[in-house]
Amino acid sequence: MSAPVQSDVAIIGGGIMGASAAFFLRRHGLSVTLLETDKVGRQASGTNFGNVRRQGRPIFQLPLANRASRIWRTARELLGSDVEYLQSGHMRVCFSDRPENVGAMEDYATKAREEGLDLEILTGNTLRARFPWLGPEVLAGSHSAMDGHANPRLAAPAFARAAIAAGAQVFEDTRITGAAKIGDDFELEADDGRLFRAPVLLVTAGAWAGKIATQFGEDFAITPRAPTMSVTEPVPYAIEPSLGVMTALEVETVYFRQVERGNIVIGGSTRAPSYPDEYRSYVLPESTMTQFEHIRRLAPVLANLSIIRVWTGIEGYMDDSLPVMGPSSNVPGLYHAFGFSGAGFQLGPGVGETMAELIATGATDIPLAPYSPDRFGK
Ligand SMILES: Cc1cc2nc3c(=O)[nH]c(=O)nc-3n(C[C@H](O)[C@H](O)[C@H](O)COP(=O)(O)OP(=O)(O)OC[C@H]3O[C@@H](n4cnc5c(N)ncnc54)[C@H](O)[C@@H]3O)c2cc1C
Repeated sequence: MSAPVQSDVAIIGGGIMGASAAFFLRRHGLSVTLLETDKVGRQASGTNFGNVRRQGRPIFQLPLANRASRIWRTARELLGSDVEYLQSGHMRVCFSDRPENVGAMEDYATKAREEGLDLEILTGNTLRARFPWLGPEVLAGSHSAMDGHANPRLAAPAFARAAIAAGAQVFEDTRITGAAKIGDDFELEADDGRLFRAPVLLVTAGAWAGKIATQFGEDFAITPRAPTMSVTEPVPYAIEPSLGVMTALEVETVYFRQVERGNIVIGGSTRAPSYPDEYRSYVLPESTMTQFEHIRRLAPVLANLSIIRVWTGIEGYMDDSLPVMGPSSNVPGLYHAFGFSGAGFQLGPGVGETMAELIATGATDIPLAPYSPDRFGK
């Protein structure tokens, strides 16, 4: 049996949270081991819709989202590779059967502005002149010029490659089955018996994080869910903003974005069955069809496009839809960052930088109280 791999920090889970944390921890000069069951970025971080949007989040989350936004904008230079981040704007719209949402949009924009997110509320002729492809049922839009979308398949691997170039050790095909604190070190055992040791452990295992936390006597109810995605054939690039609906109805919660190659990526909140233990989730055709009904309301020009691929991915949801982020108050040296509840892709680089800062310096200016692991009891 080979000797345990020792580092300052071990990270379990190579999605965008773990990969970006590894990258930023190296920038603080700490040695890092990133451990991933499968390949980096193959789960939620690689299967998501790709929205890099700040609006629609709780106002108190904007400092973290702003931090992430700054990293997305410089990702190409920072990582030395292209993650297809396109700052083409993000717009939330509401339908005319819910006019009360316009007031809610305006209210949100006022509060968001105080946190540094500039939103422009567009209605009537101004809205139609800017976005003539919007359907007649669309009443108003809240437009953020400084947001957009990126390619999920590229992002986490790009962070991992940059982390490796900066000196991190990344172990793919390495599922951690045993985790314990022995003396000052965490000892982690992979399913093939390899051992990893570090005085600090960061758990970024997404929908699977509960299994690791349980080994430290911590109980988090994480519900796995699988939003349904699809993509159309390519058509000439014409729709700049990534678009989503502001609505309280899950069935109406649909969104789409056009990539520069021309395909329209479509997503929605209707969930498909997911089986995290088997690393499987399944598309329900009826969800795709229902999403398309509402996509047509948003942009009738898309009505006749053919869907060429459908997929889902498994994400962990907490009961209050907020992530768990911060140090464990039970086990010194144990840190958590998981449960991003369907909205963690945009936050990813900001989470990685914040967790690295917290681990390396013991503090961060980003407000983490709403995400405290303690809010679920011990
Ligand atoms: C279909 C879909 C659409 C979404 N759309 C968006 C969007 O448009 N915008 C947005 O902001 N967010 C979106 N999200 C949410 C976003 O994708 C997630 O919040 C984010 O990717 C979570 O990243 P993560 O690193 O925490 O988790 P993951 O990417 O799931 O990574 C966790 C990793 O941990 C590994 N792991 C688990 N257990 C172990 C173990 N025991 N040992 C070693 N490794 C382990 C897993 O294999 C996995 O790779 C979407 C999610 C899904 C599923």
